[in-house]
Amino acid sequence: MNCHDFNADIIPVDNSVSSDIMPQIKEMQKCGKCIQCLYTYIMLAPSMSDGEMIELFGADMLEMAELKDELNELAGFKLNPYPNRLRIARVNKKMQTISLQKERGDKVLVKHYINECLRQLEGDMLEEYYNMAP
Ligand SMILES: [Zn+2]
Repeated sequence: MNCHDFNADIIPVDNSVSSDIMPQIKEMQKCGKCIQCLYTYIMLAPSMSDGEMIELFGADMLEMAELKDELNELAGFKLNPYPNRLRIARVNKKMQTISLQKERGDKVLVKHYINECLRQLEGDMLEEYYNMAP
C-alpha cells in the first residue's frame, strides 16, 4: 500500500493510535510530500516526537513551506464547494494541539496555520462590525 491509498480518517482523534493502525502506517510507502501524507502526519504528530515522525515520513513535514496549499485545503482555509467537514474538524483539532506544543510553535506550517486562523478571525470580526454599523 502507498500513501495515496491510505485514508487517515481511520486514525482516532483522541491521540490513542491503536496497535493495528501503526504497523499499517509503518509498512506503507510514503512519499512524504503529498496531501495524504500531510493529513496522516498531522493526525499522528501530537502524540509522537519529531524524531519518530521523521523516521516514519523521512522528513519533518511541518517544516515544508511548499505544503501550505495542502494544509489550507486540509484545514478548510481554501474555498471549496464540497468541503470535507469531518476531515477539516479533525485536522483543526490536531493543529490546535500541535500549535500549543512549545517545541513545535516555530515550525513553518504551524506558524502558517496560526496566521491563517488569525486572519479568519479578523475577517469574521470585520464582518460583524459592518453588520452592526447603522
Ligand atoms: Zn504521500
